Amino acid sequence: MRSLLLKASRNGWLARQARRRRFVKRAVRRFMPGESLDDALGAVDALAAEGIPAVLTQLGENVDSAADVRQVVDHYRGAVDRIVEGELDVHLSIKPTHLGLDLGGDVCRKAVDTLRTHASEGGVPLWIDMEDSSYLEATLDLYHDQHEPGSAFGICLQAYLHRTPDDLERVLEAGGWVRLVKGAYREAPEVAIQSRREVDEAFLGLGRRLAEATPGGDFSIPLRHVLGSHDMTLLAQIPDGPEVQMLYGIRTGAWPEVQEAGTPFRVLISYGEHWYPWYMRRLAERPANVGFLVRSLLPGGG
Ligand SMILES: Cc1cc2nc3c(=O)[nH]c(=O)nc-3n(C[C@H](O)[C@H](O)[C@H](O)COP(=O)(O)OP(=O)(O)OC[C@H]3O[C@@H](n4cnc5c(N)ncnc54)[C@H](O)[C@@H]3O)c2cc1C
Repeated sequence: MRSLLLKASRNGWLARQARRRRFVKRAVRRFMPGESLDDALGAVDALAAEGIPAVLTQLGENVDSAADVRQVVDHYRGAVDRIVEGELDVHLSIKPTHLGLDLGGDVCRKAVDTLRTHASEGGVPLWIDMEDSSYLEATLDLYHDQHEPGSAFGICLQAYLHRTPDDLERVLEAGGWVRLVKGAYREAPEVAIQSRREVDEAFLGLGRRLAEATPGGDFSIPLRHVLGSHDMTLLAQIPDGPEVQMLYGIRTGAWPEVQEAGTPFRVLISYGEHWYPWYMRRLAERPANVGFLVRSLLPGGG
């Protein structure tokens, strides 16, 4: 089922069908407050009222023109301005292919540079998401070229990739910040661990390494390393230090437990029109979510 859903996430015809169907849109609402920046900022306010800060990411990947990249950059520059004006505790997270990585390194490099500079002037921390492994080298290059020690600029690394222990050490040596996740894409056995148990073990080992690398009690640091996971069993086995981040709408019942333990905690809110591949990856993470999709077909469901 997981493999089928991940395959479907790359299907253009299905994407067009899904975006037209009201019942799919209703089901997507469970994981996404809406398609506009205003919808996302509304969710930021609601979370802030519960003492939970946020990360925002506009959905979109694999854009195919420089004009589209400019629009994405403008959108995020506007988001930085709204965060600064509202004095909000909000980070941003961007996807390199949404900023033109497929159009050649230079387009993307310039876009990330513009955004990073604008975000840093506004004091808004910026994260780079990690996409499928065909973009790994280019994404790491982008990060290492632009990261300056002490800056609030971090990168996501995926525990399921065989090479991640080395990549993680390199980011730590450069004084960078890591958001560790298990990994959400369909990858070949040559590049990624296939068994869930072994992915969990890898996450645990790397998570412990991040905890060890987090300066204890130092609140002057611009960012923290992050464990991006809803796996409470694994999180409980990693010493304090890193921030825990979870996705909007997922495992909300566990959030108070993390907050009450005093663990720094933040929720990543995705929003935007291009939700189809991202939504399919969320279904693949928990095929039981397909049940919610089916139930939303029923009158009053969703
Ligand atoms: C803040 C954050 C940022 C991320 N950024 C990236 C990225 O840049 N690149 C990338 O490849 N991946 C990213 N991911 C996704 C990540 O790789 C995993 O696919 C995802 O987090 C599920 O793994 P898990 O650690 O929660 O553990 P799992 O073992 O998958 O889940 C643990 C428990 O959480 C619940 N759960 C997990 N996922 C769902 C879901 N979709 N719906 C309902 N319940 C669920 C289930 O109850 C499950 O038993 C990110 C995740 C988070 C939280």
